[in-house]
Amino acid sequence: MNQVMNEDPSISIKKAEKIAYENNKLHKRLCRQVGQAIGDFNMIEAGDKVMVCLSGGKDSYGLLDILLTLRERAPIDFDIIAVNLDQKQPNFPAHVLPAYLTRIGVPFHIENQDTYSIVKRVIPEGKTTCSLCSRLRRGILYRVADELGATKIALGHHRDDILETFFLNMFFGAKLKGMPPKLQSDDGKHIVIRPLAYVKEADMERYAEVKQFPIIPCDLCGSQENLQRKQIKAMLREWEKKHPGRVENIFSSLSTVVPSHLMDKDMFGFADLKATGEAVSDGDIAFDEEPCAPPTANVVRFGGLED
Ligand code: SF4
Repeated sequence: MNQVMNEDPSISIKKAEKIAYENNKLHKRLCRQVGQAIGDFNMIEAGDKVMVCLSGGKDSYGLLDILLTLRERAPIDFDIIAVNLDQKQPNFPAHVLPAYLTRIGVPFHIENQDTYSIVKRVIPEGKTTCSLCSRLRRGILYRVADELGATKIALGHHRDDILETFFLNMFFGAKLKGMPPKLQSDDGKHIVIRPLAYVKEADMERYAEVKQFPIIPCDLCGSQENLQRKQIKAMLREWEKKHPGRVENIFSSLSTVVPSHLMDKDMFGFADLKATGEAVSDGDIAFDEEPCAPPTANVVRFGGLED
């Protein structure tokens, strides 16, 4: 207490200015990264109606907030509608999202579907509930997107989700497969987008604190967080601590794939490979060390939406 009272007022002003400066920098960085991901993958086009799926977690709040900022600056017109699926989990504070969305003036739809009871009834006690729960949720959200006339479904997955999924698929599914920033839904009727694809989870955490989003806890369903995902997250954190830049390089490698240097016979015609006598720019320099140049950043912007 004494420390606070005795603190030189000029120091507190400087501290406050520094915090404001850092917060502003964070907001600019998020807008730039989201704008870049939207541009790189042509996620949003003129006339789109983007259905932003809002769970009440930090990532979906952040996604909606940044998309609203970008829409104001965008050279194209598009609509945003927020959608929350109330799965009737015990103690879900149903008033929180409508109150927040009404306050910020965003059109929204709350879909009430008791998937919680279905999952509890069908899955035996102690077994993982997430896969059925997310399958049910997916089907409902696709139907809602149809009913609302949404042309894009935006999800709040970020860079760390993408990397974790990539390693989960490799370690446990024996597949080189991640979580794409843009994809066609499995029913073939919708385009799903992940505008936070370039954003670090730590930035989303800080942004949620800065903006004081009314976060709804994500453990209401009583499910344990997926243990394997937890382990991968810990592995990536450890790497980042011990080898700064490694995680960033792995992430960049997802957009610099060389099929001729992998082993997927369906992706590259190894069987028909013949020497042509012509030099090939990405040919194998079989006896040399691979150069370790950092990847060049892709700088395409979403309609000039940078800072
Ligand atoms: S954590 Fe709970 S709400 Fe989320 S997918 Fe799993 S069962 Fe469903």
